[in-house]
Amino acid sequence: MESFEKLLKKSTQVHGHICAGQVIGVRMCLLALSLINIDDPKGADRKKLYVIVEIDRCATDAIQSVTGCSLGKRSMKWLDYGVMAATFVNLETSKAVRITALEESREASKKYCAEIVDKYQRQLEAYKIMKEDELFRIQNVKAIIPEENMPGRPLKRVQCESCNDWVQDRRDLLVDGKILCKQCVEGRYYTEIL
Ligand SMILES: [Zn+2]
Ligand SMILES: [Zn+2]
Repeated sequence: MESFEKLLKKSTQVHGHICAGQVIGVRMCLLALSLINIDDPKGADRKKLYVIVEIDRCATDAIQSVTGCSLGKRSMKWLDYGVMAATFVNLETSKAVRITALEESREASKKYCAEIVDKYQRQLEAYKIMKEDELFRIQNVKAIIPEENMPGRPLKRVQCESCNDWVQDRRDLLVDGKILCKQCVEGRYYTEIL
């Protein structure tokens, strides 16, 4: 693995700014990857790693930057739970850890870098040096990853009988004998302007 400083620099470039989330995200990855025995996430181990993130905030960009996992490669899955946690899976061994950033670390950061007045700046610097158990909760888990969420070619591709959109990866629904896309069943996130 590259050094913490190098990885932080890269993730800051990808993300667009340095922030506490970048520090947390990079440290979370280093911890998780060592626990599931991934040494070279973007090279020799790139097909072995799968990450499930539970929030779409700053640290998620750091996780993508360090692991090389992404939505487009389907090696990263985003679950919209609003929780600062991620599960890292070694697909070869099935070893997986869920790491949660502790809310208590905000308070604990006050013990460090007392000379820095600005709260966010102090947190950022403190998170670089705080102990892992002050920052994170670690759970050994068995991750449940549906076959249709794995990288590789789509397992299924069907056309919605209502709107004609093509639906991949078993996201279609069968309602009263009709194959439908989710938006035709559950409602749309947009309204069309005619
Ligand atoms: Zn940020
Ligand atoms: Zn449809």
